Amino acid sequence: MKIHIPRLPKHARFMMQAHLVATQNTCDRGPELLLDAGRHGVGAVIVQQDRIIAGGYNGSAPGQPHCNEDGHLLVDGHCVRTIHSEMNAIIQCALDGTSPQGGTIYTTASPCFDCAKAIARAGLRMVYFGQGYESRYGLSSSVKEFLSTSGVEMAPLILDFDDSGTLVWKDA
Ligand SMILES: [Zn+2]
Ligand SMILES: [Zn+2]
Repeated sequence: MKIHIPRLPKHARFMMQAHLVATQNTCDRGPELLLDAGRHGVGAVIVQQDRIIAGGYNGSAPGQPHCNEDGHLLVDGHCVRTIHSEMNAIIQCALDGTSPQGGTIYTTASPCFDCAKAIARAGLRMVYFGQGYESRYGLSSSVKEFLSTSGVEMAPLILDFDDSGTLVWKDA
């Protein structure tokens, strides 16, 4: 089936780009991908003044094996090898010397507490998530409240394809 992607408003376009980045993951823990049914993973982009300055997906640190090829590195049932997509995007800002301060992060799954702390520390002000996800501590639903204490807003921005294969989006 052919898909149809209409011209998107900015925020839906940035989320679409996070979904595209998510397809490059090397660790398939996380929700099902929007753009590749049956596969799982997470992607994120950081936007500063209407420009994407960084992106990341769930993947291994340099030199480490890929979970999707060698299996996960599990501790207490959680994969500890993978750097989460939000963290990867923030680290890319550090490598590039580009400040994420005051920016917005679009992530295909709601952040875990570790990523939330990094998001707050990096000075990001807004988090759009494509899907609520109960990640490693099973507490992602509490992350919104946690982030608001640091002055970071968090809101859903859900993309999907309707029965005719046309991309549709819904925010809160
Ligand atoms: Zn893994
Ligand atoms: Zn995380």
